[in-house]
Order: sequence, then C-alpha cells, then structure tokens
Amino acid sequence: MTATDPDALADRVQDGDLRIHELEDHADPDTAAEARRTFVERETDTELDATADYAFAAEQAESTVENMIGAAQIPMGVVGPVSVSGGAADGEHYLPLATTEGALLASVNRGLSVIRDADGADARVTKNGMTRAPVFRVDGVAEAAETIEWVDDNVDALREAAESTTSHGELLAVDTYVVGDSVYLRFAYDTKDAMGMNMVTIATGEACELVEAETPASLVALSGNLCSDKKPAAINAVEGRGRSVTADVVIPGELVEERLHTTAEAIAEANTRKNLTGSAKAGSLGFNAHAANVVAAAFLATGQDEAQVVEAANAITTMEAREATASPRSDERRSREREHEDGTTDLYAAVSLASLEVGTVGGGTKLPTQAEALDVLGLRGGGDPAGSNADALAEIIAVGALAGELSLLAALSSRHLASAHEDLGR
Ligand code: NAP
Repeated sequence: MTATDPDALADRVQDGDLRIHELEDHADPDTAAEARRTFVERETDTELDATADYAFAAEQAESTVENMIGAAQIPMGVVGPVSVSGGAADGEHYLPLATTEGALLASVNRGLSVIRDADGADARVTKNGMTRAPVFRVDGVAEAAETIEWVDDNVDALREAAESTTSHGELLAVDTYVVGDSVYLRFAYDTKDAMGMNMVTIATGEACELVEAETPASLVALSGNLCSDKKPAAINAVEGRGRSVTADVVIPGELVEERLHTTAEAIAEANTRKNLTGSAKAGSLGFNAHAANVVAAAFLATGQDEAQVVEAANAITTMEAREATASPRSDERRSREREHEDGTTDLYAAVSLASLEVGTVGGGTKLPTQAEALDVLGLRGGGDPAGSNADALAEIIAVGALAGELSLLAALSSRHLASAHEDLGR
C-alpha cells in the first residue's frame, strides 16, 4: 500500500490521524474522494457504488464542493423547442431540465407546443442588478445621516473602488437604508454573464474600505441581509435582483379550445382566483402556480446556485381573456382569426420573475453536464456583447415558466389534472 492508496488513507481517517477535509493534502482529488467515500461506507455500513460513478474529474468540482465523495445524479430531460422573441434570445431553443418530478416536463412541453403554435412568446429582461448590502455600525442617527450623505455624494468614488476588482462588473447604484444605529448600503451591479455573487462580494468589500475611511461608519458584516440572498424577501420582489424578466404570449381562442380543452375565460378565472386571490389570502410572496418547478429544474440542469430558487421563483402570473385582434405576427394567425368569428376570445398570459439570478460563466456552469446543457441552449460561456448570454438564459427560463403556468392552469380549469397524473402513473 502506498501513501495515496484510498484504503490506507481511509484507515488514517478512521484512526484519527487525518481529518476528512485534509485528504486532498495527501492525494489527488479523485483518490481523496475515493478515500473519503470508503471512510463513509465503513462508518455508515453502506455501499456507495452509484455515488462513485461520476463522469467528471474531481478536480473540476474543486471550486463547487468540499469533502467530495462523488456525485448526486438527477435525471435530465429536455423540453422544446422554446419559441422566443426576446431582447437577447431569439428563435427556437431546447431547454434541458433536471428534476425528479414526474409529469413536469410533459406538462411544460404541452405549454411550449401551444406557445409555438401561437407564434411564440415575447420575453424581455427589464432590469438587471446583482446586489450586496453590507451593514455598518454608527453611534446614532446623526452619524447615520452623515454617512448616507457622503455615500450619495461619492458614488463615483465608490464605483472606482468597486470596479478596480473586476474587469466585467459595473456598479449601477448604491441605495441607503437606516435602522437606528445601523446603516445598510445596497450595492447593485451589472455582472454581465456571471450570476455575480462572488464578483459583487469582492467589489463591495473594496468599496466598504472607502466608506470606513471617509465616514464614521464601521463595517459589521459584508452582507447585512438587505441584499437579500437565498431568503424569501419582499425587497427582491419589489426592487429586483439579478434579472427581472417577463415573458408573455397571446394564445388564439381556438388554440385554447383545441389544444388546452378549455377557454380563455376559464383559465383567466382560475388564475385570478388561485394565483392572485388565493396567494394574497395565503400571504404568499409569489403569485403563481408552480414557477419554482421550471426555475429549479433549469437551475440544476445549467449549473446555477440552486439555493437561489428561493427568490428566483418569485413570480407573478397574469392572464386575461382578450377580444381577438389582428396580429402583426403572421398571415396564418390572421387567417385563423378570420375563420373564427364566433366570439371566441384570445388568452393573454404572462409570467414576471422579479429576481432571477442566472449566469452562463462561473460557479457550477463550468461542470461538464451543466456546460453541455448550456451548449444545448447555445449559451455556454460569455456572450457577445457581454451579458447577452445570461439575458437570453433568463428569457428562455421565463418562457419555460410561462409554459408551465399555462399547462397547469389549463389542466385545472379543464379539470384534467387528476386524470393526467393517473395516465402517467403518478
Ligand atoms: P465566479 O465563479 O466568481 O465567476 C465570475 C467571474 O467570471 C467574474 O468575476 C469575471 O471575472 C469572470 N468572467 C469571465 N467572463 C465573464 C463574462 N462574460 N461576464 C461576467 N463575468 C465574466 O462566479 P460569480 O458569478 O461571481 O459567483 C457565482 C458563485 O458564487 C457561485 O458558485 C455561487 O454558489 C457563489 N456564491 C457566492 C456567494 C458569496 O457571498 N461570495 C453567495 C452566494 C453564492 P472578473 O470579475 O475578473 O471580470
């Protein structure tokens, strides 16, 4: 046995000679993972053969996980094409989704098929700003006022400090908040194609040094929770975080009847009573049916930070029955409308995600299957111009979420939900 034999290394961990996080100091990353797995198998009397069967070099995962023992595999499927006319995304894209919820992809695919037949969805990123909000201690409100006055007068100096740490990030704004003897500065950045949490944390740390040098404020914590990262928070829903993105579509009435087996009025009523009134009564932060399903599955497939689903799935779904109007989109659509002069109304449907934090560079996007999923979308790596790939990813996920909302609302309003699950055996 050599010093890098995994069994011998596991023995040393069991003997207390090594701690489990020290294994990489004595072996290459894959051997260290094997030794740690062997130790866990022995301690828990388990066999981790499936966990051991991963398809990347442990070295590639070093910046994404510590104490690695293998990989958790989640089934990945694909839906689409997603037909989108966006500010950054255009045309048709297949969207990989990783999930363990049966019926999800089938449902989203049905919604996407109807959206395609309706000539596709529009989508736009309407706001973009990744935030970090440090908290400072002051003596009282007089010092707090002095501090925020200095900040308001010196945003250019703060920008220079923050942007000295990054070649991509741009400081957009610094919003100030005072609570007693605490001052919160909510820094918002354009992080281009990166989700940006590491980038903005480093940049904000640099800016904080200037605040401390020039004002009476002392930094208590680089994150003061007004950011607000990975917690359900109204500030993200109101002010946005990451990408604020909306996708919408007008579905001709005859398509609603033929393909969704219901009417625009029935879907709109279900949306109002369930997603709006029901959510309001529940005190919900999100006003939607299941946007988290598509957001979470897309996050897992494409290597986003899965804990940010907390705020990334914060969406409002709006639907209304509209009088059929001539569409500028296609002659086919116009001729369909001419054929249907029987009073059938169209369905306007939209999903607005306030704080969708996504990136196509950095974090988990570098891992092999996640990078392949971004390849399927045509969005791996930095965009041209920078930021356009992450914008496009946000727009495509928004259309996917819209398809999920449409399909579920249609199933509920046509009362087919239970039978659909029964047919798929779930
Ligand atoms: P990152 O892995 O640090 O990568 C981002 C870096 O990629 C940027 O700073 C930038 O370098 C570079 N880059 C290259 N091409 C780019 C392009 N086209 N657009 C933008 N940047 C480009 O990731 P991150 O997005 O900043 O942060 C995501 C990671 O943070 C995830 O792993 C997440 O789990 C983790 N996270 C961290 C915190 C925290 O508080 N630190 C909180 C939550 C999550 P330059 O800056 O040099 O230009």
